[in-house]
Amino acid sequence: MTKHLIQTPHTVTIEASPARRGLYCFSQDLRLQDNPALNNLISQTDEILFIYILDLQAFRQNKNGFASLGGQRWRFLKESLLALKASLQRYGHDLHLLSGNRYSVLSELCQQYQISTLAGSYNSGLDEYRDWQQLQQIPETSIQIIHQNALWIKEQLPDHLLKLPRQFTPFRRQMEALTVSAPVTLKEGLQHIRPLPPPDHLIQVSNWPDSPEPHGHAPFSGGEDQGWQQLHRYFWQTRQLSDYKQTRNELDGWQNSSRLSPWLALGCLSPRQVWSDIEQYEAQICCNESTGWLKQELLWREFFYWSAHRLGADLYRPGGERHKNLLTSFYPQRFRSWREGSTPYPLVNACMKQLNSTGFLSNRGRQIVASALVNELAVSWHYGAAYFESQLLDYDPGSNYGNWQYIAGVGADPRGGRHFNLERQRAAYDPDNHFIRKWQGDTTMVEDTIGIDDWPIR
Ligand SMILES: Cc1cc2nc3c(=O)[nH]c(=O)nc-3n(C[C@H](O)[C@H](O)[C@H](O)COP(=O)(O)OP(=O)(O)OC[C@H]3O[C@@H](n4cnc5c(N)ncnc54)[C@H](O)[C@@H]3O)c2cc1C
Repeated sequence: MTKHLIQTPHTVTIEASPARRGLYCFSQDLRLQDNPALNNLISQTDEILFIYILDLQAFRQNKNGFASLGGQRWRFLKESLLALKASLQRYGHDLHLLSGNRYSVLSELCQQYQISTLAGSYNSGLDEYRDWQQLQQIPETSIQIIHQNALWIKEQLPDHLLKLPRQFTPFRRQMEALTVSAPVTLKEGLQHIRPLPPPDHLIQVSNWPDSPEPHGHAPFSGGEDQGWQQLHRYFWQTRQLSDYKQTRNELDGWQNSSRLSPWLALGCLSPRQVWSDIEQYEAQICCNESTGWLKQELLWREFFYWSAHRLGADLYRPGGERHKNLLTSFYPQRFRSWREGSTPYPLVNACMKQLNSTGFLSNRGRQIVASALVNELAVSWHYGAAYFESQLLDYDPGSNYGNWQYIAGVGADPRGGRHFNLERQRAAYDPDNHFIRKWQGDTTMVEDTIGIDDWPIR
């Protein structure tokens, strides 16, 4: 992670040309299949440039004391980018990594290359959304951005975004009445479209920041093919999908839930592809409560996706979507011991150590540590959400901040927040302390002393 980034200094000269030129900017859609925005671009252009813009600030320590792009998360992203690069190379194209402010990079490239169509995807992040909106003003470039990381595009929603139900159950009922469109395959002809010359200042692969090795207990490996392999394993090879409802709450165990979230978060897989495979499984293998439950979890993802677009900046505010006037407290020592897994709570410690080592935590584990941070340690939820953003392989703005708000009682939970009893959770999900021992949750507890600088702040 300490590597000094060197950007290639050559200058590209682009001749004026009557050719129709396209620019595809990948973000959380790192795939070639089920990518309608890419298919549209293929049918509209003679020459294409493919880029990904990396925010190098995310590698630096932020005001909370850690990088917002942690090591394992970067490793998974890097693998996904390399896999996409290799896929594009098979069609005679390439993926170029650039850094900088997204709006500036894209508007400069559009001018320099005389781009007629700029394409990409929306995701649940506010900054990305604002950038795409601002780019609509570039003269002579058609901007074609699609909501293709959700089950439905905006035009298919049953009502205006602002009128969608604000709680999950009525949202689910409305959405279940809709049909999910079948995923689309990559349009023929990409290999016949000419690649545009690489841009100035691209970051050569040899200069991409270093990343740690994957952890043996969490063999997540980035990329479209790897995502399909995991889906194939969980659905078709082992048929564990048939038991999902019974196993999904376990704290550990690769086989206990689909483990598809990292690939969904980066768009290596689309939710439509997963939905379509569940329906095929229901038709060919079995249709039971478990298959229905996995669909429901994809609807939770959908709920947080569209809620993020509705909420805008409120998604990230401590008062949340309810605009609660919280007493926001920050105890640096408690927050540090929560992050490091050295609190007085062995179950919380084990979960945090698992997260730090692997970049993954079960849904149950996330709920437990989030509740403990807010309720036991009295630290405001948004510090915890920022740490999850740094660590989770599957970090997604809508799902992360939405779930944190839900637990902290400032979001969509009709019950006004969740407080998990840690001893009851341990008794139910780790009765023989196997999980705590495996992740050494009981070895590093520290005294909870509060210093003078630790008083709550508003
Ligand atoms: C505090 C907190 C923060 C979270 N942050 C994220 C995040 O940044 N990114 C993320 O993808 N999920 C997040 N989740 C949701 C959930 O924990 C993960 O999606 C799930 O654990 C991933 O494991 P899986 O793929 O095996 O899920 P499965 O149980 O197999 O579910 C299948 C898919 O459904 C979706 N899903 C399941 N549960 C949820 C949920 N509660 N909210 C939204 N989508 C869901 C995911 O895409 C998941 O891959 C968070 C949950 C909590 C409590």
